[in-house]
Amino acid sequence: MARSSSAKSSLDGFPASAIFEKDQGITYKDFLILPGYIDFAPQDVSLETRVSRNVKTKIPLISSPMDTVTESRMAITLALLGGIGIIHNNLSIEEQAAQVERVKRYENGFITDPIVLSPKNTIADIDNIAQRYGFSGVPITEDGTLRSKLVGIVANRDVDFERDRSLPLAKVMTTELVTAPKGVSLVQANEILRKSKKGKLPIVDKEGRLVALMSRTDLLKNREYPLATKDDQKRLRVGAATSTHPHDRERIEMLIARGVDLLVIDSAQGYSKFQIDLLKEMKKKHPEVDIMAGNVVTREQGEALIKAGADALRIGMGPGSICITQDTMACGRSQATAVYYTALMASKYKIPVIADGGIANIGDIAKALAVGASAAMCGSLLAGSKEAPGDYYYENGVRLKKFRGMASIEAMEGSGGGAKRYNVEDQKIRVAQGVSGAVVDKGSLFEFVPYLMQGVRHALQDMGCRDISALHKALYASKLRFEPRSLAAQAQGGVHGLYSYKKPIIGAD
Ligand code: GDP
Ligand code: GDP
Ligand code: 5GP
Repeated sequence: MARSSSAKSSLDGFPASAIFEKDQGITYKDFLILPGYIDFAPQDVSLETRVSRNVKTKIPLISSPMDTVTESRMAITLALLGGIGIIHNNLSIEEQAAQVERVKRYENGFITDPIVLSPKNTIADIDNIAQRYGFSGVPITEDGTLRSKLVGIVANRDVDFERDRSLPLAKVMTTELVTAPKGVSLVQANEILRKSKKGKLPIVDKEGRLVALMSRTDLLKNREYPLATKDDQKRLRVGAATSTHPHDRERIEMLIARGVDLLVIDSAQGYSKFQIDLLKEMKKKHPEVDIMAGNVVTREQGEALIKAGADALRIGMGPGSICITQDTMACGRSQATAVYYTALMASKYKIPVIADGGIANIGDIAKALAVGASAAMCGSLLAGSKEAPGDYYYENGVRLKKFRGMASIEAMEGSGGGAKRYNVEDQKIRVAQGVSGAVVDKGSLFEFVPYLMQGVRHALQDMGCRDISALHKALYASKLRFEPRSLAAQAQGGVHGLYSYKKPIIGAD
């Protein structure tokens, strides 16, 4: 098949079908993409994509729902930078929902449910709010609820030097307020806020009752992070993982109530009655919330989930850096082959597939996109960053952070997800499908992610594609050309023959 397709074409290399529709599964290292024609700069490459039917992002990067990868800080950072984070579920329902809320409250257009107090509350109540949510600008209404008459506002500078924390807010609040009327547009309100030079702009109705709040900080955040992934209220978007187990129905409801944008059904083998039933149930009950289903690696598995209502598919069984599934369970698939087949099937339904696991460098992200993925989901690549959970420690003089598989013995002993994902929750003997280990310090994602994405832009430029949809068009029109590479070619493709060299932050093994 490979020979005839190349003989018929005047182009070098092979169409993807000739590489992947063969009797051997292959992965990212096994092939290269031949260069295309460049008539644009890397800056002209758009990495905009869809991570699910209705969730668009400016960069094709998703952080894994793992307890050493994604909590609220990772999710906020990735969303600011244009991707999206999936909060793991090795947490109690309340804790996971609180993490989602933290992301949703981080940035806003109109804050439609601001925290409000009454004049009788004390400065200590402001301290509690500051500790829980990280802000201290609080509108004061007559009875301490939204939609009651606005009587003042308390900001940090009203209370920071006050020793007596039991003072009622009536004594410290500012009562001369600049407000905007209900119905004002976001653009107009921003203008009033800018001109007022105040930190907050309460929005009030004709009777002077508080209906919303705006914060000056959000204007700055919006300017500083133009790629941020936001919903239509200008709040950051966030995903959260859940299991299919009946007792997690409560988790799902709570996550939705806190505004989660994308639910990820976290399962190592997603082709199950449990998952299909959950998808059908949720699509009836909450059609407004997108669901990423998985994990799957075959067309049959993926198509069943799409038919049950999946808004995205998560692809991968065994390629993860911490994963021992293929050795333990005998099931799985080589990752590039898995992404290719599932994406080919899902493209007919216009459902994005997400390449999950085994992404070790920039080239792997580009290759995942080139074989049909709409985005890459990464664990180890983002672990070890400042924004990942956990503290740094030193081993042999190297600065490290812990990183562990969600089906490692250690994680399965945790309070939530791990054991459920791998269907071993009720079993007395737990077979690990992952290991625990450590990864080196990667610094802050505010530098690392733009570096990764600039690399991906260069890769797309080399392929001659200005954006991900052009890349997929070229893939399915057989214009994107692939070539397998031998083990010797792989060795030659890496650094070789040097006595020593300085590694870039990522890209050299
Ligand atoms: P863009 O700013 O032209 O990309 O268009 P947007 O739809 O993002 O924004 C429309 C208006 O809302 C502009 O005036 C933005 O400055 C403003 N805006 C965007 N994001 C935020 C935000 O997070 N908070 C606030 N207060 N305004 C925002
Ligand atoms: P503050 O001056 O201490 O209130 O904090 P900032 O103005 O620096 O930051 C407040 C941030 O929290 C903004 O991005 C708001 O959009 C966000 N936020 C979310 N919910 C609320 C809320 O209920 N009240 C306030 N004040 N801010 C909120
Ligand atoms: P990485 O990006 O580190 O190569 O892979 C991350 C992915 O590995 C996760 O998104 C998840 O799909 C998968 N994963 C996480 N923990 C485990 C585990 O313990 N066992 C297996 N088999 N896969 C895991």
